[in-house]
Order: sequence, then C-alpha cells, then structure tokens
Amino acid sequence: MRNFVHTSHPSRVIFGTGTVGQVRDEVERLGCSRVLLLAGPAVAKAAARVRDVLGDLIVAEFDGAAMHTPVEVTERALDVLREHAADCLVAVGGGSTTGLAKALALRTELPQVILPTTYAGSEVTPVLGETQGGRKITQSSPAILPETVVYDVEFTRDLPVGMSVTSGVNALAHAVEALYSPQANPVIDGMALDAVGRIARALPVLVAQPSDTGARADLLHAAWLAGTCLASVGMGLHHKLCHTLGGTFGLPHAETHTVILPHAMAYNAPAAPDVMNRIAEALDVADAPSGVFDLIASVGGPTSLGRLGMAQADLPEAARLAVATPYPNPRELTYQGIESLLQDAWRGLRPASPAVHVPPALGATADLERLTEQVVASFADAPDPRVGQLLGDLVRHLHHFVTSNDVTESEWQHAVDFLTRTGQICTSTRQEFVLLSDTLGVSSIVDLLTNSRTPETTPSAVLGPFYTDGPPETAQGADISRGVAGTPLWADIRVTDTEDHPLPDAVVDVWQADKDGFYDVQLPEHEGPVLRGRLRTDDEGRLRFWTILPAEYPIPDDGPVGQMLQAVNRHPYRAPHLHFMISAPGHRRLITQLFVKGGPYLDSDTVFGVKEGLVIDFAPGTGPTPDGRAVDGEWRSLQFTFRIARIADAPAS
Ligand code: NAD
Repeated sequence: MRNFVHTSHPSRVIFGTGTVGQVRDEVERLGCSRVLLLAGPAVAKAAARVRDVLGDLIVAEFDGAAMHTPVEVTERALDVLREHAADCLVAVGGGSTTGLAKALALRTELPQVILPTTYAGSEVTPVLGETQGGRKITQSSPAILPETVVYDVEFTRDLPVGMSVTSGVNALAHAVEALYSPQANPVIDGMALDAVGRIARALPVLVAQPSDTGARADLLHAAWLAGTCLASVGMGLHHKLCHTLGGTFGLPHAETHTVILPHAMAYNAPAAPDVMNRIAEALDVADAPSGVFDLIASVGGPTSLGRLGMAQADLPEAARLAVATPYPNPRELTYQGIESLLQDAWRGLRPASPAVHVPPALGATADLERLTEQVVASFADAPDPRVGQLLGDLVRHLHHFVTSNDVTESEWQHAVDFLTRTGQICTSTRQEFVLLSDTLGVSSIVDLLTNSRTPETTPSAVLGPFYTDGPPETAQGADISRGVAGTPLWADIRVTDTEDHPLPDAVVDVWQADKDGFYDVQLPEHEGPVLRGRLRTDDEGRLRFWTILPAEYPIPDDGPVGQMLQAVNRHPYRAPHLHFMISAPGHRRLITQLFVKGGPYLDSDTVFGVKEGLVIDFAPGTGPTPDGRAVDGEWRSLQFTFRIARIADAPAS
C-alpha cells in the first residue's frame, strides 16, 4: 500500500476541435461581458476566430506578451485593462501569453479563459514566473489559476514542426519529473504515463505530417495532462536547471527543456530505477534516458546546448547556480555531477546507456565495462572533438551490441567477412556500402535529420548510388532519354522558394532508370550517359523536358547486400521514381525523388525512401503533347513544383 496526498486545482476544461465556438458561452458563464483579448501576431489566424466568436464582448486588445512575463509589459497591459474597464481576460497563445493573463489576474482577480496554442501546459497551473530587473520570481496562488481552458486542436495545427517538437518535449519533461517527485501519487502517475505515451506516439507522426489531427489531438491532450502534473507536484533537477539556463543565460525555454531532459533523466536514473523502467515501457524502449534522446534526435529536435548559443565557458557557473540552493531531487546534487551533465548536454552526447547487460555465466561485467571505457577514453585527445565523440559513442554501441547479443567468434568473423566482401565489390560505378546504408535505413535517417525539417519545403530523399558527377548539359524541351525505349513522359517542373517566388537559373540534375529498371551505368551497351541530364530553370523558374516513365527495379542484389536481403526474406525492389538534385544561388540544395503514384513497392521500398509528399500522379497525357511533339500511343505528364529553402531560413543541420 502507498500512502499519499493529492491536491487538485479546479479548472473547467473544454477539449476538442472547433471548441473556439464555445468561447462566448464560457465568458458569459463567468458572468462577464467586457473582454480584454490577449493575442500576439504569431497567432493572428486563431485570434481572428476568437474575435468572430466573441464579437462585441471584446472591449480592448493587447498583443505585447513576452517570454518570462516582464513586469513592465504587465503594467502596460494593466493600463489598457483599466482604461476599458475589462471584466474578463481571454488569452490566445503559448505560455508567454498565458503568463501575461495570469499576471493580470493576480493583480485584478479577473477571471481568465485561456486558448493554448502550444504544449507548455501553463494554462492549468496556479504558478507564475515574472521577471523584473533581470530576476525571475516564481509564485503560486489560487488567483493565478485560470478559471477556464478551451483546448482547440485546430489552434495548434499551424504550430511549426520545430516548435511542436520542443514544446512537446517541454510537456514530456513535466510528466517525467512528476513521476519521481516526492509528492508523486497514483492519480498523477496515471496522467504522467498517459502523457509520455501520447507524446512518444505523436511526435514522429507530426514530423511526417504536421497537420495530422490525431497526432495534434494526442499532443494537446498530453500537454493538458502534463500541465496538470506540473500543477500538482514539485519538479526536480531538470526544471531547476532549465530555469537557471533560461533565467540567467537567456536560453530559449522549450529548446532548453528539449536538450536537457535526457541528461537530467540519465543523472537521476540510478536513484529512480523503477520510474525509469515505467517511462521506458511507456516509450516502448529499453532505456528511458537514451530512448528520450533518440526520440528527440529522430524528430529533428535540438540536442546540444552549444548549438542553442550557450558558451562552454559558462557551464561551471550554471552548475554552481543549479546546486546553490537545495531542493528535492531523487539523486543527490553534486557540483561535479551537474557540471559533467552540462558538458555532455553542451556537446550533444547521447546519455550513456545503463550498465552493459552481461549474461551471468560470463560474469566479468566490471572488466567489460572497464574495457569499453578504456577504448572510449582513448579518443579523448582527438583534435576534432566531434571525431572523438562519434568514435566513442560508436564503440559504446558496438560493445553493447556484442555483449547483449552474446555474439560468438564465428558470428563476428562472418560479420568481418561480410564487410570485407562489401568493400571488395565496390568500383567507381558500384557502391555496395551505399546500398548497405540504404537497405539498413541509415541513409534515410541521416537524410531526415539533415534535410526534411521544414514543412514548407519539398521533402528530401536519399541520393542513392547511381548519381554521376557532371551530367550532360541539356536544353529546355530536350529529351534526356536520348532514344531509349519506353512510355514517353513530359515533365513540367517549377522551382520556387518557400513563398512561391520562382527561382530562375537553378541547376537541376535529373537521373532515372529505364523501363526495365536499369541505370545507364549498369548497361555497357550505352555509349555515354542516357536518362540523365543537367537543366537550368528559365525566368519563371520552370523547366520542361521529355524522358520516359521510370520502372521499379531491384537494387543490385548479386553482392553481399543482396545475400543479406535474401537471408531475411526481403525483396530488393525500389518503387519507380525520378531523381532530382536542385541547386540555386542563396538556397539550400535539395536532393529528392518523385515516386509514381499507384506504382509497385511504394509501401515496401527496399531503401525506405518513399515519403507521402513525394508520391505524385504521373497522369496519362490526353490530346496533343504540350510542345507539339508527335507521339505514337500512350504518353504521360508530370507536373510538380519544388519548394526550396533560402539558406538564411534553413534550420542548422
Ligand atoms: P511562447 O508562448 O513564448 O511561444 C513561443 C513563440 O511561439 C512565440 O513567438 C509565440 O508567439 C509563438 N507561437 C505560439 N503559438 C503559436 C502557433 N500556434 N503558431 C505559430 N507560432 C506560435 O512559448 P511557450 O513555450 O508556449 O511558453 C514559454 C513560456 O511559458 C515561458 O516563459 C515559461 O516560463 C512559461 N511557462 C510557464 C508555466 C507555468 O506553469 N507557469 C509552464 C510552462 C511554461
């Protein structure tokens, strides 16, 4: 039996899609008729919907909310509130706008109706952090707790993917720390674990499909649950550290939570093993801290304090501040421990896995661990720290793989032979290592981490092994098939920036397989390149060319990679596609592929390269061809616009 105390904080919660329609009723339900609307320019669309619904109940608006609720801003908003004799606060926005509503409510006791547009969770807590003269002061009071929260999933649909990821991890942090809080209780445990599972399921879906209603609903539901946890129990090391890094070093709120969470969990893991096991189960991973790190990395979230702009020289001071005043935490806080945590987070290291699992018969756990650490330490003086980090982490994973699978000598020899044969078959036109990376899904992961990060740009796809440097310069309207038989295909392509401005003079390399699935480099009968070309967009950012419809094809499967696929009953086929590499001055290079809608193997492409936004209708042509070319029989037409990011807009890779 477990003794516990649970305090709940009463608020009325309306959850769903289109719930904004109920805001007027909710204001009137509170007995109010003079609304001060708080909403910033970033949520203009949502604010317009609220204006439509509230109509003449709005007597004034204020759009100046700022991060960490500066008291000067609150005083300006207070003037507006008093001048118009408002009797109710309606806030549309993230934690900053909610913070302003809370600060005003604390001073006036006016009721609040909050419509959250992020996953920060502040709307269900009686807590307010305000800044004045560079100091952040946090207080808790029933007057701060908003009376009504209207969660409208539609209001989060436009939250950019990057912010959705960091805000979602901010919510995850509330749930994680609630589970090992000294006030933890069964009510909160249930909510926290439900939130962890929802966040882990929703984030990968959102990255692939940012407006997915189910995933958005899951994440918003989790934000509410996690916010409720935050309201009910005390937080530990993670929140304290983020508070210090945000308040004293000016780091951004949700991003800092995202970088720190796996490291704070790894620090606390030895003192809270049961909690970590429950989190790992909810995440469906073996180890909670590294599982959270992997989740964040896989959805393109930030993993390094250095990349957030923190100076490495400031880490000792941050560690000193974080341990200066004691607070409850599962594991004792030591300066050395926290400094080392911050160093790892600064470098973006994956938190160390728990002790290597060794079957009892082998016994020598300590020796194996010592050996791993010796090898890792041998990279410590690498002149390039990134090289040291990558090799060290590779060795940790490799040692863990060998010990946890109890790999035998003959299995390891087989692996060495396999890699030897993979190298031996490589030539200037046969790249077996690229095939290996592709069929293991690594190329697609690297591509996802580096390229497909903005929803406004066309998704990228892997380069593949058949690109050749310097394809033949090809004029607009020309036929890159150069007489190779197949169903003629007319391609009419536009290249624009993310705001739909055409990009003239972009260099576009195109390459593809023939109707039997072979690239020219695989067929000795072709003299010189076919089915590949380099074109340039015209003044309208367009390029048009003839080619033939690409066919599905097996990747070269007569080598070690083919044997590997056979050994696990996997087919070697790629779904039919055209490759594109697009370069325009001042813009990020885009490497991608367009797949033929309705074609075979779209759902089992052997290199895991198919993305929904790249599956395109290669429509049957009707009537005369666009350039008047005479075509006997069937022809197809492909129309597509590639959107590429300006270098200044592109997220750092
Ligand atoms: P935020 O409110 O500062 O929003 C971040 C940015 O995103 C802002 O520029 C905002 O205008 C924009 N934005 C918000 N919603 C958007 C949308 N749907 N589409 C596009 N842009 C949008 O950030 P946050 O992470 O929500 O909140 C952080 C603040 O909340 C911090 O000050 C933090 O201390 C506070 N907070 C307080 C509590 C609490 O219980 N007191 C809990 C969590 C966070």
